[in-house]
Amino acid sequence: MTALFASCSPSVQPTSASSPLSSPTPSITQSPNPSITQSPTPSITQSPNPPITQSPNPSITQSPNPPITQSPNPSITQSPNHSIPPICSPLRNHPLEQLPSLVSWSFLPAPPDRHYGLDLGHWALGDEESSLYDPVQAVMDGRVAGVVLDRPPSGHMILIETPYERLPAALIEAVSIPQGFSVYHEYAHLADPPDLAIGQAVACGEYLNRVGLTGWTVAPHLHLETRYGPPGFTFEAMAYYTGDATPVEMAAYETWFLSGQYQAFDPMILLSLTLSQP
Ligand SMILES: [Zn+2]
Repeated sequence: MTALFASCSPSVQPTSASSPLSSPTPSITQSPNPSITQSPTPSITQSPNPPITQSPNPSITQSPNPPITQSPNPSITQSPNHSIPPICSPLRNHPLEQLPSLVSWSFLPAPPDRHYGLDLGHWALGDEESSLYDPVQAVMDGRVAGVVLDRPPSGHMILIETPYERLPAALIEAVSIPQGFSVYHEYAHLADPPDLAIGQAVACGEYLNRVGLTGWTVAPHLHLETRYGPPGFTFEAMAYYTGDATPVEMAAYETWFLSGQYQAFDPMILLSLTLSQP
């Protein structure tokens, strides 16, 4: 197994509902925690960014937001009147300033390694397994918009919506968020079945879950994905187009990952806003 980060969901793109054998890493889905006992360490230390074997079909037409290469925080000094709402590290044991050193797979690396989230783990520190069960907490205030119980590709997953009026002006400008759109934060591969209800309020820094190995992943890490899109998106189930996926699950997957309505941007832009503050 060479694909440590492989799984991270968003890059997998079914071309049809009956999408063939592109079945990403069947072995992973067979057992929730295969890697720990099967392969203690093999390739992990050898290649911090091993290739993806999962055919991350680059055909997603989501035109990942361009402004990433532009100065991420241009507006901070331009609009000092806008206070920045609280932004918290998604990993309770690691303050925001440590996160760059924990990025095991970044947002949108060079093709073909499409990846619409940010993977945070300890690989970069030479310790691939100690991230397991690290407490995961909310990066911003919001409400629970989605909960998934161990389904592919994201495993146990939580989605939290932060409404437009709670977004930092600097973020709105940096990623060109349209008026009225929300930002959604997805936390994937969590260890425990989410104990949250749709609509429940969540505060910045509130405990959500723990870093796990659920879904398409073979080493513990947090997949944090941020997208902006129309407000009010809610789902209680979501799954990739596997054989047993229900129409409801597939519809949510389609809306979130494939429809283009929810545009992914680099979570690090958000996470670095307060660090950039003068
Ligand atoms: Zn990921």
